[in-house]
Amino acid sequence: MKIQWLGTAAAEGWPAVFCTCEACIKAAQLGGKNIRTRAGAIVDDVLLIDLNPDLYAQKLSLGLDLCLLKDIIVTHNHGDHLTPLYIEFRKAVYYGKALPVIPIYGPYDIMDDLMPYKEYLEMHTVEAGDEFDTAMHHVTVLPAVHSAKNGKFYLIEREGKSFLYMHDTGFQCDEALEMLKQRVRHPIDVISMDCTYGPNPLPPNYTSHMGFAENIKLKERFMRDGVADGHTRFVSNHFSHNGHMLHEDMCKYMEPYGIEIAYDGMIAEI
Ligand SMILES: [Zn+2]
Ligand SMILES: [Zn+2]
Ligand SMILES: [Zn+2]
Repeated sequence: MKIQWLGTAAAEGWPAVFCTCEACIKAAQLGGKNIRTRAGAIVDDVLLIDLNPDLYAQKLSLGLDLCLLKDIIVTHNHGDHLTPLYIEFRKAVYYGKALPVIPIYGPYDIMDDLMPYKEYLEMHTVEAGDEFDTAMHHVTVLPAVHSAKNGKFYLIEREGKSFLYMHDTGFQCDEALEMLKQRVRHPIDVISMDCTYGPNPLPPNYTSHMGFAENIKLKERFMRDGVADGHTRFVSNHFSHNGHMLHEDMCKYMEPYGIEIAYDGMIAEI
């Protein structure tokens, strides 16, 4: 299985859209892994996770062939993860030929936004606990705890390999963690976790995202539950500039905990 993180920022990007904070200025000066577009990922070049607003820029910078896409899965209806306009460009009028209808899976409240493009899509509404097969992968739907109340995240499996892609959820997602404990028979190969807050503490009673402290606790929980083991690669992802720590510093901070820091274009081959 080939996993590629396309974008690794929270909603506002990093450097953020309207920001002149020190972290954004430094990221712009240093470039490279410090430049983070909005979050999305692609598995085996055929399964796209989320229609993030920067997908076109990612196609250019990473040399993606989006014509290979066979399926799309969407986590939730926040604008940094769902840009329906991309489906506009499936229309035959742009190419002089019809493109195949593409299956798209997600919670019911993404479907309203996609309705204008329904003839170009095969729309599948998913609920927590559902399992389904795409062209090449087996997918399990897990319930996120997030400000978008129907948010989901996904366990993706193929030929004995597994990838848990988990963002826009708080640490308090016990229902999902329990489902994973029941269903996962072999420890997961790669786990990508929401880390919007980076080194910052979460606001009191906040359940929508995580930071380093929660990622460390989550890794411990996964190990304890037997969902992960010593071979599992743990990756923090989905960063806000408000964390202020640049890529290299985040890597140093998380290294002792055995957690990697995602960057745009990062690939894991498992
Ligand atoms: Zn997000
Ligand atoms: Zn900033
Ligand atoms: Zn969100």
